[in-house]
Amino acid sequence: MTKQLKHETICVQAGWTPTKGEPRVLPIYQSTTFKYDTSEQMAKLFDLEEAGYFYTRLQNPTNDAVAAKIAALEGGVAAMLTSSGQAANFYAIFNICQAGDHFVCSSAIYGGTFNLFGVTMKKLGIEVTFISPDAPEEEIDAAFRPNTKALFGETISNPSMEILDIEKFARIAHKHGVPLIVDNTFPTPINCRPFEWGADIVVHSTTKYMDGHATAVGGAIVDSGNFDWEAYADKFPGLTTPDESYHGLTYTRAFGKGAYITKATAQLMRDLGSIPSPQNSFLLNLGLETLHLRMVQHCKNAQQVAEYLEKQEKVAWVNFSGLPGNKYYDLAQKYMPKGTCGVISFGLKGGRDVSIRFMDSLQLVAIVTHVADARTCVLHPASHTHRQLSDEQLVEAGVRPDLIRLSVGIENAEDIIADIEQALNA
Ligand code: PLP
Repeated sequence: MTKQLKHETICVQAGWTPTKGEPRVLPIYQSTTFKYDTSEQMAKLFDLEEAGYFYTRLQNPTNDAVAAKIAALEGGVAAMLTSSGQAANFYAIFNICQAGDHFVCSSAIYGGTFNLFGVTMKKLGIEVTFISPDAPEEEIDAAFRPNTKALFGETISNPSMEILDIEKFARIAHKHGVPLIVDNTFPTPINCRPFEWGADIVVHSTTKYMDGHATAVGGAIVDSGNFDWEAYADKFPGLTTPDESYHGLTYTRAFGKGAYITKATAQLMRDLGSIPSPQNSFLLNLGLETLHLRMVQHCKNAQQVAEYLEKQEKVAWVNFSGLPGNKYYDLAQKYMPKGTCGVISFGLKGGRDVSIRFMDSLQLVAIVTHVADARTCVLHPASHTHRQLSDEQLVEAGVRPDLIRLSVGIENAEDIIADIEQALNA
């Protein structure tokens, strides 16, 4: 039903569909556990023979309602919420990779994900090869090995703002018999639905635009249901062969298109337990109710601010794919014709010291680590998130030493520009 609705209606109404006498607003099921009348009823839940709630680490009605809304927004068959975007990215890969496996990943991704994949997952015996998203297809092909299990990229990379050619990446992934996993945090499904371009799994840091108010850290994994795990059964034994921890149940056979999310819930969430609190999911749902309105305003304001910055004598460069002439303008027009997101990166003439002085002079725009919420904020990765790196290492990581990341909020664009102008003059 919700799949035929437009995304504005899904944002407001999907997920929680109360019947007679039930609360109109999604209730917070602040309960770790759920009651049953007989021992047998409970046993059937543990064996996955019947669906139902028994312990919030595995499933909770508030969390599930919000997951269903996000699945509907992305056009997927099922979704799972996690306690953070980091957990979502970890689970998305770990659900199909084990020690001895390998995956290929765009190098233009969030620094936390880069570290998770390149350092922490390596300690678990899972190797990654990073490739430039703009590399020719043959070069990306060459990174694949017989034990490669996935291809990963970010629709819009944080903070370098590179745009992923999703169709190219989907073609490459499928040629090698693996799914394409896309982190769609920055555009959100309001501006881009990666499944429509061939992606198989989508992940989110819901901490960003989806929550939108900087109140709740969270993540989500959505499955399109399109990847045929059985066709590559040897590559994905975790999905296509019996799971001894569930009495020999085989996920693809028992759950069909729901196999990937059911395994992530029943196995990974059971064992690793990065579930969001129902309270946080309630807050996330409030954010989602206005996502469609906020994204329009973020994009409109960012366009105005980027056009202003581009004209300033003191500004050395501006990277915003909504500007004609930007390296990613054509890709942005193709995949996100309504706008990309509210984040702009730019540099000031004079480099690192001038950037710091500029940021310290801002009054309305706040210096925070966060990005992508209602309030305009700013960060200098070289001084903050990436401060342990030398200038040379920064360039290697795709972060120029003078890069300022400006996350344009939903205030009045003229007020944001006036603050930037007084800081440029200060
Ligand atoms: N993915 C992207 C694109 C991000 O920008 C971030 C955080 O900034 C993450 C994932 C990690 O999400 P979280 O901070 O919710 O763990």
